Amino acid sequence: MNTTISQNKAPLILIVDDDPFVRMQLRLLLEREGYRIVEAQDGKAALAAFEQQPDIVLLDALMPETNGFECCAELQSLPNGQTTPILMITGLNDQESVDRAYEVGAVDYVTKPIHWAVLRQRVRRLIEQTQLQRELEAANRDLQRMASMDGLTQIANRRRFDEYIAQEQGRIRRMQLCTGGRSSVYLSLILCDIDHFKLYNDTYGHPAGDRCLQQVAQLISSVVHRSGDLAARYGGEEFVILMPETDGNGAATVAKRICERVRSLAIPHESSQKGHITISAGVATIEASIEAEMVNLVTLADQALYQAKQEGRDRFCTIVGNGL
Ligand code: GH3
Ligand code: MG
Ligand code: MG
Repeated sequence: MNTTISQNKAPLILIVDDDPFVRMQLRLLLEREGYRIVEAQDGKAALAAFEQQPDIVLLDALMPETNGFECCAELQSLPNGQTTPILMITGLNDQESVDRAYEVGAVDYVTKPIHWAVLRQRVRRLIEQTQLQRELEAANRDLQRMASMDGLTQIANRRRFDEYIAQEQGRIRRMQLCTGGRSSVYLSLILCDIDHFKLYNDTYGHPAGDRCLQQVAQLISSVVHRSGDLAARYGGEEFVILMPETDGNGAATVAKRICERVRSLAIPHESSQKGHITISAGVATIEASIEAEMVNLVTLADQALYQAKQEGRDRFCTIVGNGL
């Protein structure tokens, strides 16, 4: 079996030892295995070399100045320190030293004189484990992102929105309880719905409808830029924007801007009276009150949206409630 590693993405090993002869022996063995090597002769140099993001650190326990145990603890506190395995190499073989190595975060321990066949296998196994772990974490992050994102429009999806509004309402409720209801807290929501979108699909076809949804979604998320705001696809051709700590005037400004910008996108819609794509919006704002019942902000916004449709579309209507 050929066990050497291809040079172009060969893992990087940081060797930390004050003895140049040991460093050289380790370098020769590991370079033969195809790894890339960086060396450090003491703890301070190790911390600097760690910036090169090694895949594993081989660390001598007994060095002048910072000893290996202290160095190990310091490496752990650096960025990537928790996810880079540290293998301690030492002449110390007593119970206390072994315990201490694990306590300071070393994942494994080999003693001097070095048993080369053992070291070679341990290094390989640790690097493989770490790479698998990193891939798993990256895949989990991707999954997490995908689970909260709408596939078509690449903005937050309904699931993310439901989660976020519950979290916000919970936060406001706690804040109200803490201040005895004295602070006034606003929460606003805009529900947008594309006008005559069924007709758009009927006229231009479903793929064109999808592209239109993508354009409108991008436009809406570009209008919403405060850090606590969330723009999401609520369903079909409906979008929702949740704006914590925003009163009715602030929310109306955002809704007005969205209607205007959709107008100026000027996406042709020959079956609509206006001749281009327009949007209607319902804006709901609540001022949190400690005694009030929980209100459904989406239901409230939906009433305002209904009114905007009734009044002729291509506009927004507002509604203000008390509660939370
Ligand atoms: P109104 O002005 O009253 O809102 O009329 P409307 O036609 O927009 O409303 P309606 O709710 O009757 O139609 C919504 C349409 O949105 C129907 C559906 O085919 C379309 N739609 C929903 N989801 C998608 C999608 O993912 N892609 C495309 N292309 N169309 C969609
Ligand atoms: Mg609709
Ligand atoms: Mg519609």
